[in-house]
Amino acid sequence: MVAKSDKEFFVPADSDGRNNMMRRLYEKYGEIRVYPIAKSIMSRPIDALYVGDGEMYICVFAAHHALESITSNIAYMLVDYLLYGSGAGRIYDVDCKLLLSKYCFIIVPCVNPDGIELRYHGASGSPIYDRQMRMSGGDFSTWQANARGVDLNHNYDAGFYRYAALARDMGIMPGASRYGGEYPESEPESRGVANLVRTIMPSAVISLHSQGEEIYAFPDTPYVKRIARRISSATGYSIGVPEGSAAFSGLCDYTASLGIPSFTFEVGQGKNPLPESDISAIFERVGKAIVTLPTLL
Ligand SMILES: [Zn+2]
Repeated sequence: MVAKSDKEFFVPADSDGRNNMMRRLYEKYGEIRVYPIAKSIMSRPIDALYVGDGEMYICVFAAHHALESITSNIAYMLVDYLLYGSGAGRIYDVDCKLLLSKYCFIIVPCVNPDGIELRYHGASGSPIYDRQMRMSGGDFSTWQANARGVDLNHNYDAGFYRYAALARDMGIMPGASRYGGEYPESEPESRGVANLVRTIMPSAVISLHSQGEEIYAFPDTPYVKRIARRISSATGYSIGVPEGSAAFSGLCDYTASLGIPSFTFEVGQGKNPLPESDISAIFERVGKAIVTLPTLL
């Protein structure tokens, strides 16, 4: 039924501007509503895929972090599932046609294409090769950040300066992870994400990360907690509490500050990057929870 998006990993760069997952969706469905929300530091497109005709929005963002590109696969599978469901009717016991007449899913499968490229292929050919080699010591195997060493999920305007002071004290510099940037939304990738959210003010935001099989729910209200408990029982994921530096300047910290119910999913279990063989099992648990989320709102 659903395209075998689990047969290979998402890879961002392709000469015709379409990555391997996008090409597969175009082959299967012909038309897809794709809108660019930003260009990365290295001018790679960051696309939002729209599925549904409703006037309420659910936003899903994946791969803020380069070692977590398995979440891009999950996001593309979600697009595939919803497109399939829009023609087929019921999926996961949800009337998909009805759902997509009320809601529009806006899915950004890859927030950080430059970081994923670095992780896969290193810095060779990069216009800022020397800088990237200095930041990484030539080893990109733990690289989570964008092209210039900013951790995109610490670049949002929520507790940013508190986090920046903490990071300074800890000696965190531009590099593989945890450096939040010079100011909130200093990076085109995070600015594009935040602009999209501010413009459409969705009913819910979901941010996909790996790993840990946990959900973090924001803001801390009885309404959001109730939804989190339902997601937890649907996925088997536990409800986590962010600790230490994880508690600042992330996307969901920011969207929660706008009053939007926001959920970080730490998908899968193991050591990042998780293997391709985990993709299907993760989607089984997470895809269903995302598709059924509007029924909980
Ligand atoms: Zn992450």
